[in-house]
Amino acid sequence: MTEKKNLADGVVIEIEKAVVSYREDVALRGVSLSVSRGSFVGIVGPNGAGKTTLLTIVNGLGKIIQGRVEVLGHSLARGCPASLRARIGYVPQMQNIDPRMPVCAREVVMMGRYGHLGFFRRPSRDDWELVDALLEKVGLAHLARRPIGHLSGGEQQRVAIARALAQEPEILLLDEPTASLDRRVKEEILAQVSGFHKAGNHTTLMVTHEMDIAARLCDWLVLMKAGRILAQGKPEDVLQQEILKVLYENGDGQYYLPRQRRIANWI
Ligand code: ATP
Repeated sequence: MTEKKNLADGVVIEIEKAVVSYREDVALRGVSLSVSRGSFVGIVGPNGAGKTTLLTIVNGLGKIIQGRVEVLGHSLARGCPASLRARIGYVPQMQNIDPRMPVCAREVVMMGRYGHLGFFRRPSRDDWELVDALLEKVGLAHLARRPIGHLSGGEQQRVAIARALAQEPEILLLDEPTASLDRRVKEEILAQVSGFHKAGNHTTLMVTHEMDIAARLCDWLVLMKAGRILAQGKPEDVLQQEILKVLYENGDGQYYLPRQRRIANWI
């Protein structure tokens, strides 16, 4: 009953008092969040705040020891079926890929289709056309047949985004998609992410450490610290000096917010 009601209300993610614990750490300490279809949500906060863990439970991979998580109308109490995971695209934090990995960019993007195809059906011409169109859109058509490990970090990130989009996801999860990239590449990728969000019909959740980017792209921000949501709301409402001071204060009264003088320019 609740599931049907949530979808009718346009709520695609409903998290209520979720607690997630790894062996020695409690990563989420009672997190509640409701996300409406079509939103672009930014998740920000210091290291170890629980941002990646929050994405993980939406993706159905985290173990919730208390609370409730519902995604696209399905309760995740008993795990996340593959059919539901196929509707959620995930771009993990950038990883080092072995240059000897014998898979080219085009094949990596096709992996995004497997959730729809099933393991035993071969990709059709339409699937390959979709993959090639996505590579074109992320500006990598000319590198489609190059081994994935021979691409630069920025190019690999574009491939990862294209792979997630090849799923035609209803929810797109991005974990620091532009970390450690130079400013120009960062801006290009973010412009693509923003364009895909506007053109597509999906809901986007993006973890980032860069407040100016979050303020610019997202229509809702979730500020996390020590496994809790400290504040959430529209960028102009939560990007306040006093809130950011608490967010980045490290316990000894110091607070380390890069480029804090520019808050006014973010929003
Ligand atoms: P960062 O900005 O550094 O990526 P984050 O906000 O994404 O951090 P998480 O990665 O969600 O934070 O981690 C939250 C807490 O859970 C941290 O204390 C972390 O050490 C712990 N943690 C995360 N993953 C694991 C794991 N697989 N096993 C044990 N502890 C973990």
